[in-house]
Amino acid sequence: MRAVLLADTRAAVVEHARRMVADGLVVGTSGNVSCRDGDLVAVTPSGTDYAAMRPADVVVVDLEGRVVDGGLRPTVELPLHLAAYRHHQAGAVVHTHSAAATALSLLRDDVPAVHYQIAMFGGSVAVAPYATYGSEELRDHVSAALTGRTAVLMKHHGTLTTGDGLASAYDRARQLEWLCDVWLRARAVGEPALLEAEEIERVTRRFAGYGQQPGT
Ligand code: 13P
Ligand code: ZN
Repeated sequence: MRAVLLADTRAAVVEHARRMVADGLVVGTSGNVSCRDGDLVAVTPSGTDYAAMRPADVVVVDLEGRVVDGGLRPTVELPLHLAAYRHHQAGAVVHTHSAAATALSLLRDDVPAVHYQIAMFGGSVAVAPYATYGSEELRDHVSAALTGRTAVLMKHHGTLTTGDGLASAYDRARQLEWLCDVWLRARAVGEPALLEAEEIERVTRRFAGYGQQPGT
């Protein structure tokens, strides 16, 4: 019997896609998840119910977007995912339609520094201009906004986060949603105070040594 290509990676993609629903980051079949393994990418199929999704439904493509394994069509946002791998050193990509981030995208051109946690994305997070879902124009807007960052908001649409692997890309999707929610709550009752750019730079440097470091 033929071994299943990227079996563990495909299973992890399904697990994180399901978590998006459980954590309220998407509704229905919205959003998509992918993970790179060498020159291949395992990506969620388009328009497929997450509860019913099986690892075998996950599509394996190469970095040109050619399907290498899988019987379903890959996500319509495959161009976004491939741009993150090809131009932004991503190891995994999470795209959500989370509510607070999407609401903020209608009001601002960036995510305001209401909390130092914004430094975990490499600094300020931009809102990419609107373009039709699945389009090359959207890919280009998002790719430009992702330069030097691990997160971007997509106007009238949602978020995209990247990481070395699925755990970090997914954690960033949740942290980004929380940050946008804090701003919306504060903004609902007044004009939120913001942190200075120098402080965000200081925290960005400090985050490089955050948590359990090897050899310490
Ligand atoms: P897919 O079901 O094709 O992944 O599309 C969902 C989506 O979020 C489009 O932007
Ligand atoms: Zn979308």
